[in-house]
Amino acid sequence: MRNNKFIYLILVFFLVLSLSLITGCGKKEEPQMTKPEEAKPAQKKDVPVIKDYENIETVKAQLAKLAPVKITYDASNLTGNEKKVLKLLVKAAKYMDRIFLIQVYRKNFRIKKELNRLKKENPDYKVLNAWFNVNFGPFDRLKAHKPFINLKEEKPKGANFYPGKMTKEEFEAHIKANPQDEEAFTSNFTVIRKQKDGKLVAVPYSKAYKKLLEPAAKLLKEAAQLAENPSLKKYLNSRAEAFLSNDYFQSDMDWMDLSNHKIEVVIGPYEVYEDRLFGYKAAFEAFITLVDHKESEKWAKVASLMNEMEKNLPIDDKHKNFNRGTSSPSIIAEEVFTGGDTKSGIQTTAFNLPNDEKVREAKGSKQVMLRNIARAKFQKCWIPIVKEVLAESELPLISFDAYFNHVMMHEYSHGLGPGIIEKNGKKTTVNKELKDHYSTIEEAKADVLGIWNSQFMVDKGVFPKELEKNIYASYLGGMFRSIRFGIDKAHGGANAIQMNYMLEKQAFLVDKQTGRFRVNPDKEKVKAAVKQLANELLVIQALGDYERAGQFIKKYKSISPELEQALEKVKHVPTDIRPIYAIEKELRKKK
Ligand code: ZN
Repeated sequence: MRNNKFIYLILVFFLVLSLSLITGCGKKEEPQMTKPEEAKPAQKKDVPVIKDYENIETVKAQLAKLAPVKITYDASNLTGNEKKVLKLLVKAAKYMDRIFLIQVYRKNFRIKKELNRLKKENPDYKVLNAWFNVNFGPFDRLKAHKPFINLKEEKPKGANFYPGKMTKEEFEAHIKANPQDEEAFTSNFTVIRKQKDGKLVAVPYSKAYKKLLEPAAKLLKEAAQLAENPSLKKYLNSRAEAFLSNDYFQSDMDWMDLSNHKIEVVIGPYEVYEDRLFGYKAAFEAFITLVDHKESEKWAKVASLMNEMEKNLPIDDKHKNFNRGTSSPSIIAEEVFTGGDTKSGIQTTAFNLPNDEKVREAKGSKQVMLRNIARAKFQKCWIPIVKEVLAESELPLISFDAYFNHVMMHEYSHGLGPGIIEKNGKKTTVNKELKDHYSTIEEAKADVLGIWNSQFMVDKGVFPKELEKNIYASYLGGMFRSIRFGIDKAHGGANAIQMNYMLEKQAFLVDKQTGRFRVNPDKEKVKAAVKQLANELLVIQALGDYERAGQFIKKYKSISPELEQALEKVKHVPTDIRPIYAIEKELRKKK
């Protein structure tokens, strides 16, 4: 699952979600490759596939929402062979770009070809091409998939995983009439196609994308040969085999067993968000990253204190929950390159995989935090906001470390507090009881406990004492960015609640004249408000009290005039980043 709160998405419990994005994918070398499903309409070759497009100024404004950032990497710790492995993996990841392009939309290759052909003569096409690359298709991911090319053509809900005109009912009727097909049809790793006789069939990915998966598998095998770390060698070999066999289980298990590895890589079909019809079909993606062992150890130490954090929660002992299992291991890594699904739209800062429940049961899951991506977002999208809305006195307190600490503590805090609860004598879960209020309450809980636990770590001497001042300024500063994304979303709503609560308790203050926000210098007041808010949210969860959750949300989830004014001032700040990968350039130069 992807996750990344830093910003937006969510995840429940420990996990995470993610987001991700962009960059001109494959550029020049795109398509003479094989186009498994695009091959047919050859006779249409000369008919332009782009009929009309959005006002180009609007497209430019969309593009400007993503700040370009060069993603460099430090190879100084890598051996010669490891550097070669890294490059082979990037080449394999580029096949994920191509497969994902097919998965998103049937006409993608034809549109891309036309954009490439015309972008030299028509400057509009250059802009369209850049935005197409970000979105992996002609639909705007920052505007709920609204088309910006061919404005009358809506994005199919089932992307290109199902036949264009197939309805939900048709799919369901097929399974009803052919129950033996259910497993293949609902599999994460098949596409549904219609035969000439009109019959629906499930085609395994290994067959549908064979011409792209075979060369990708070959690159993984080459990389495996050079890999010095035995666990990485094993994973790369088994993942290569999975591309050909369509059976991903063993390679997911091997991914969980990676250890002492410098290169952390994920490549294959994972998230199902692109399938908005059923959520069955997994999109191909890749993360090529380098592990930061020093940072990872620091967070492993924090993770080992989960039980102490649970003990320290500001709630009655009877509601404490020591059975939530150990936390999944967190790896802190630096992103080198991404491919496919995760590269499109908003960028992922953290992911938690694998998604296969059988693997999760056997081995748990692994969370990977992409620290350089978090830093890029901090610099490009966070600092500029904070400079506009916080009082001068707060600015020296803002630091990336405090920000990153809060992000991490937020994720850990999802794993604390009530999960399985008892209500009216029956076992149930917080999620089930709080229903549509659940995500908002859970995100607010993770945020405020993130602060509560950061303070706890400072008090215990795990975090340096100096961090204390920075924690609260960072907490306040971070709220504006989340609220910007809309208070109807779980993260945005959760942040509006916290902001209003803290203002009511005078933990945060607004200067009437400048409209700027600051943390009350009376730290005891701030700590008391954090404690009270954490307690309220934990009690709502422990009781599974839907009514109380609703009332609480109603009371605090709003945008006050001061907040509105502050948000107005940051309208121009980019919402996310657009990575430009240094390694891609290096590979191009070599050719
Ligand atoms: Zn969260």
